[in-house]
Amino acid sequence: MPQNVYVFPEAIIQQMKQYYAGQLQSAPAGALFRAKTANAVITAYKSGKVLFQGKNPAAEAEQWADNTSEVQTKPKKASEKSVYTPPDTLPASSHIGSDEAGTGDYFGPITTAAVFVKKEQIELLKELGVRDSKNLSDASIRQIAQDILKLELPYSLLVLRNDKYNQLQKRGWSQGKMKAMLHHQAISYVLEKINAADSEGTLIDQFCEPSVFKRHIAAENKQLHDKTYFMTKAESASIAVAAASIIARTSFLKEMEQLSQRAGITLPKGASGKVDQAASRLIKSHGQAHLNSYAKTHFANTKKALDRL
Ligand code: MG
Repeated sequence: MPQNVYVFPEAIIQQMKQYYAGQLQSAPAGALFRAKTANAVITAYKSGKVLFQGKNPAAEAEQWADNTSEVQTKPKKASEKSVYTPPDTLPASSHIGSDEAGTGDYFGPITTAAVFVKKEQIELLKELGVRDSKNLSDASIRQIAQDILKLELPYSLLVLRNDKYNQLQKRGWSQGKMKAMLHHQAISYVLEKINAADSEGTLIDQFCEPSVFKRHIAAENKQLHDKTYFMTKAESASIAVAAASIIARTSFLKEMEQLSQRAGITLPKGASGKVDQAASRLIKSHGQAHLNSYAKTHFANTKKALDRL
């Protein structure tokens, strides 16, 4: 019987348990949970090991493997370099950065931005306060985004709204594949706007192994642009990635406001219990089909919202 073994961080295992909430079976001794899907039997252990066994374990494992870069079959040395590791000089050179927002939020779209920053603009962007958006409040993110846009940097912003997201998901696209295609597309648009020779390379805020990213876009007949690099937490190393994360985040916030207005209730960010509650209200007032335009319906929140009714 084919099987795949991965080691996941605890947070992902908790997410998995939620995700498979409807398909749980009794777990063997020492296991955190066991679930059965059409593809595989999934068993998670306290050590972080997760076993996928059955007809098509790779298909089941893939959706998780794509959503984290920490998945590993054997421990990797932090110092390990590949052709996708950015050269040390990249962050201080003219380069493109890309990042996305909204992937872990039940409500709202995925927004993805790519930005080209010239070497001479790096200092100014730093002065404007451009840095890792995770350390900034929503209000300052919006302010800084306005300042960035005034500089007229070549950038591209893509919004994958919920209807389309759910359609792709039902067609079998993992979220990892959607993200890979969004990054690729946004970067392509920026490259069309600039003289590619002016850029020392492109840095993608890494969300999956580069080989997985390549496979996703290859499935849609795309290939990596020259000098594409990947790095986790890239927004703290690269001002271009930080700018992209701010633009993507600002767009996500705006989209959430518009969606909330349309829904007539404030749609919370994230995927917590508050989210289940809001989804439940939305189903009550508008019907379940309506969720399609507001939420990433394959998240466990949908089931929890229905259970609340
Ligand atoms: Mg990111």
